[in-house]
Formats: sequence, structure tokens, C-alpha cells
Amino acid sequence: MRNISSLICRTAIAEGRAKLNETIQAVIRSVKLDRGVNGEKNRAMALIVQKYGGTSVGSAERIQAVAQRIVETVQAGNALVVVVSAMGKTTDVLVKLAHELSSQPSRREMDMLLATGEQVTIALLSIAIQELGQPAISLTGAQVGIVTEAEHSRARILEIAPDRIERHLKEGKVVVVAGFQGVSATGDRDITTLGRGGSDTSAVALAAALKASACEIYTDVPGILTTDPRIVPAAQLLTEITADEMLELASLGAKVLHPRAVEIARNYGVPLVVRSSWTQEAGTRVISPVPQPRPLTGLEIARPVDAVEFVLNQAKIAMLQVPDRAGIAGQLFGTLATENIDVDLIVQSIHEGNTNDIAFTVDRQATDRAQAVAEAISPVLHDNLNPNSPQVLVAGDIAKVSIVGAGMIGRPGVAAQMFKTLADAGVNIQMISTSEIKVSCVIASADCDRAIAALCQKFEIDTAAKNEGDPQAVSAPAVRGVALDLDRARLAVLQVPDRPGMAAELFGILAVHNINVDAIVQSQRTRIVSGVAMRDIACTIDRSDAAAAKQVLEAASVQLGCGAVVVDESIAKVSIVGAGMIGKPGVAAQMFNSLAAAGINIQMISTSDIKTSCVVAESQGIEALKTIHQAFGLG
Ligand code: ADP
Ligand code: ASP
Ligand code: MG
Repeated sequence: MRNISSLICRTAIAEGRAKLNETIQAVIRSVKLDRGVNGEKNRAMALIVQKYGGTSVGSAERIQAVAQRIVETVQAGNALVVVVSAMGKTTDVLVKLAHELSSQPSRREMDMLLATGEQVTIALLSIAIQELGQPAISLTGAQVGIVTEAEHSRARILEIAPDRIERHLKEGKVVVVAGFQGVSATGDRDITTLGRGGSDTSAVALAAALKASACEIYTDVPGILTTDPRIVPAAQLLTEITADEMLELASLGAKVLHPRAVEIARNYGVPLVVRSSWTQEAGTRVISPVPQPRPLTGLEIARPVDAVEFVLNQAKIAMLQVPDRAGIAGQLFGTLATENIDVDLIVQSIHEGNTNDIAFTVDRQATDRAQAVAEAISPVLHDNLNPNSPQVLVAGDIAKVSIVGAGMIGRPGVAAQMFKTLADAGVNIQMISTSEIKVSCVIASADCDRAIAALCQKFEIDTAAKNEGDPQAVSAPAVRGVALDLDRARLAVLQVPDRPGMAAELFGILAVHNINVDAIVQSQRTRIVSGVAMRDIACTIDRSDAAAAKQVLEAASVQLGCGAVVVDESIAKVSIVGAGMIGKPGVAAQMFNSLAAAGINIQMISTSDIKTSCVVAESQGIEALKTIHQAFGLG
């Protein structure tokens, strides 16, 4: 057990050796032919960073196949930096071993342990490449100067010193780097890891630091598909996807790319492609907008917010006390779509008793028509199902302010800072919408100028921009992909006093404990408790943070005058993502209707410009994903 990695490798090597001998010899011959008389290679033309995931290097044969691919790329005239993951399921095996010894192993020791997995692969791959006659050298994260924060198990990269890699490249070597790991900038320069799946991030960060002409992620699927092919075998390969869409999909459960890798690609304009390790197919290109210049120091932590945006002349319509059963959201948004009314944000809050609130925003010109649709549906619900009359509330004079930036991923403090800034400016938040790269708050129009000024000052932005939509969106499909996240929990704080600053307080506390939140929704209804108007606030969080979040919020809730803190771990979040859904009425309705047709009740809805997410019962998650994927004809 102690020497588990080497054991896995030795067995694998023994199995593969015989079969490979022939191939190796053939490749060596071809490599020798390709070199000049002195064995010197032509100067490399392009610098490429390639990353190979766990399955791709899961055995000696596979390492051999990867080595061959690498040599071919070098022969084509490229300089190559290769980043690798641990072999197969090695990281999982190591985690399990540690948990046999302790239920809460030290995060420093976990990093020390897990970093060994990648170290095995770099040495083996270098050996395999050298065996093909191509000079290569393996280096750990520390050796290539991947300097990170001291935050064990989720360290962000601060800087990469390119000197040593550049030296070895000049010597004509392929540089093989251990993914997922770095070394802390401060203190004792301990080994850190970037978080599970972090080798993608190592690769793209290296590509940015070395100004490589491309970063290629090689994996066990042909590229990025419309959804996880392990759950939906009919999923289709995408030839391209925008970085914004991929950021959403990756964070909503599509583990094919680490979201932070997409963030770095987007921020630095790194050409990124995801391809199969087994075939020569082109794979999927991740398209980034032209990046703003930014320094390479503080690589993952510089400037979380790039822009402050606003949309004026909006109206908010809220339907209160909607019965908690499948089909109503579909009916409401389906009718709005039939009337050609474009809905921007949608939130459905947690249910009190057995009713929900559903709120949405529309262009102010559409207020009367949207209100009429909501009011037409209300009495139907009332007569048939709900003893209490549902109501429709209209706020005809609202605006949406947003902070935008790929650097806010995984940084819970950024949203909390926005809420705090608005609270300090005396601005009450009526609705919140979060995505990976954007937090939007719906506020009264009268507060808009003040809110923008405060946000620009806080996040050091010169001028706020009117949100004109994404130019890439025009050609993008309404739904590019569907994702399922089974690792989330729903967290709700009941009876939160309705005054500026409460969201800032609650999410500030979670941020201090490094707990990331998304899909924040507030109930639209206020309830008067001892003379104070109260709302409920809910969000989704990582399931592994659920216990900690409940504990810290329960302590704070009493002091802040809030009610109970409720956690539900048996949820699933299913989401559709597509830049083309902006300005296309009916996309959300189609999602809601397909869930209703399958008898799946929606517990919570949250949206951003390019995604719609629904929380459903965990037991219905996979069925929900399949249903939606089919409903949009993606198979
Ligand atoms: P690697 O070890 O190469 O990093 P991962 O297991 O981390 O590979 O990621 C690849 C896996 O991601 C695929 O095997 C697939 O099951 C899963 N996946 C989830 N969503 C998607 C998607 N939309 N497109 C492609 N693969 C996906
Ligand atoms: N080996 C690490 C993991 O399994 C990192 C990676 O593969 O990206 O999470
Ligand atoms: Mg991965």
C-alpha cells in the first residue's frame, strides 16, 4: 500500500513492454531519419503546450502512445512543453488511502501526498520520449517555478518563472511538467496543489506565461460535447464553443475542463483546444475574446473585475404563492414566449409551505403585456389548486447593474464585496443573478447612478458600460450544451430582514470561510415578523462545504436577527448554456416544459444572460439531464 503509485506503474509497464518494443524501434528509425547528419534538429517554429489527462497516461502502453504523438509534434517543427496528470485513478486511490488513516487529514500533507501522482507520470513519460530518441526532461511544479498562494488543496497560481523551461527548450528538449502542483510563495515554500482537475489549469497557465501559440488538452473524449457522453451517449461533439459558455458549463458540472483553465485562456487570449488522445480529429476550439493587456504577475489573482455594466428601463414582475408542482414555470414562460416577450432574469425562490415565488425581468415596454400574462395565469392556479389567492407584483422602474470578469471564479469574496458596496451606498437589492463571470443585481432605477459610481470606485473601473450584449452571441446557438451537477447542496436562510446590507453580511461570512456560492435567489414575498419585513435567501454551494456553511451561518443568523438555516444535500442542478439564448424568447420555457412533461418538479430557478439553471431532486437529476438534452435536439 505504501508504494501504491510505483506498484501501479510497474505492473502497467510489464504488461505493455513486449507489445511496444516493435513500435519503439520503428519510431526511433523514423526519428533518426528525420534528423540532420549531426543529429541536430531544426529550430522549433511554434511553441505548443500539450496536456494529457489521467486516462491518457493510464498505462505504459498509453504513455508510449503519448510519447509517440509528442515526437511527431516535435518532428513537425514545434517546440513542446507537456503537462501531465497522475496515471489513471491514482489521485483517487491516494485520497482514499489518506482517509483510511484520518477523516480530516491535514491539507498540507494531502498536497504532499497527491503531488506524487503527477511526479510518477512525468518521469515515465520522459523515459518513454527519450527511448524514442527525442531528448526530454521531467520537472516538478516547483522546479519550473509555478509559484502559488499558500492555500493548500486549492492554491491559485501567482507567477510562473519561464527561464528554466526556455533554457531546456533551447537545448532541444521536450519539457515534461507535473500538472496540478506548485510551490507556495511564502513561508517554507511547501508543495501546493491547485484543486482536483487542476492539471488543465497548469497547462493553460504555462501557455500564457510562455506565450505559447496554442494549448492542447488531450483527453478520453473527442472534445467538448453537448453534454457528458457517459450519461448521454448520444451527445454530439462541438467544433467550437465560446470561453464564456465553457466557463459556465465547466462550473455547472462539465468536468472536461477545469473552469480556472478556461478563465486563464480567456484572460490572456490563449488559443485552447480539447482533443482526443486516441485520434487525429480536430477536437473543439474554445474561442476567447480579444484580451485586455494584463500582467503575468498575480496570474490567477490580478483584477477579478474587468467591467461594470448596467441595463436601464427594466421591469420586474413577481408571481407570489405559486403552487409547488411541475408545469407552472413552463406555462408562464411559454405564454410569455408566445407573446414574443423576451425575459431576461428569472428566479424562483425556495418554497415556504408548498408555494413558490417566481420573479422575472423584462424590458419596460413589455411590462403591461407581461403583467397581463402573469395575471391571466394567476386565477387559474388559484381556482384549481391554491386556497390563498396568488398575487402578481410589478416594479416598473428598475435597473440591472453587473460586475463582470473571469477573475472572480472561485473567489467568493468578490460577490460579497459587490453586495457590501451597494449596501454602503444605501442601495437595496431586489434580485440577484450570478454566473461564473458576472454578478448582477436588480435595483430601483433611482439608485442606479449611485450604484454604478460606488461599484466603479470599488473595483477600479474607469467608466461603466451599457450592456450591449456579446457580439459572439449572434452566431451562437441558443443552447450549446447541458450540464448536470450532482455535487451541490441548497442552503437557505429564512426570515432575513429586508434591508440593505443583509446579503453583504451573509455572503461576506461565507466568503471569509472561503465558501463559494452561486444561484442566489431571494423570495419576492416579504413576511412581517414582529413588525419587521423578512425575506428568505437561498443559494447553492458545494456539498463538501454544506456542514461548514450551516455552522457559520447559524452562529451569525442569531446576531443578525435572521431565522433558521436550512440545508438540503439531496439536490441536483441541471443547466442549459448558450450565448445565443440572449434575446430569444422561449428558450427557458422549453426547458421548464420538458421537465414538466417528465413529471420533474423545479425547486429553484436561477439564470444569467447565457444560462438557465434548475434545482431538482437529486434522484431525478440524470433523467432531467437526458430529458433536456433531447428536448433541445442535441443528440
Ligand atoms: P482527464 O483525465 O483527461 O482530465 P476528465 O475525466 O477530467 O479527463 O474529463 C473528461 C471527462 O469529462 C469525459 O470522460 C466525460 O465523461 C466528462 N464530461 C463531462 N461533461 C462533458 C462534456 N460536455 N463534454 C465532454 N466530456 C464531458
Ligand atoms: N490528478 C489530479 C486529479 O485527479 C489533477 C488532474 O488530473 O487534473 O484531480
Ligand atoms: Mg480533468
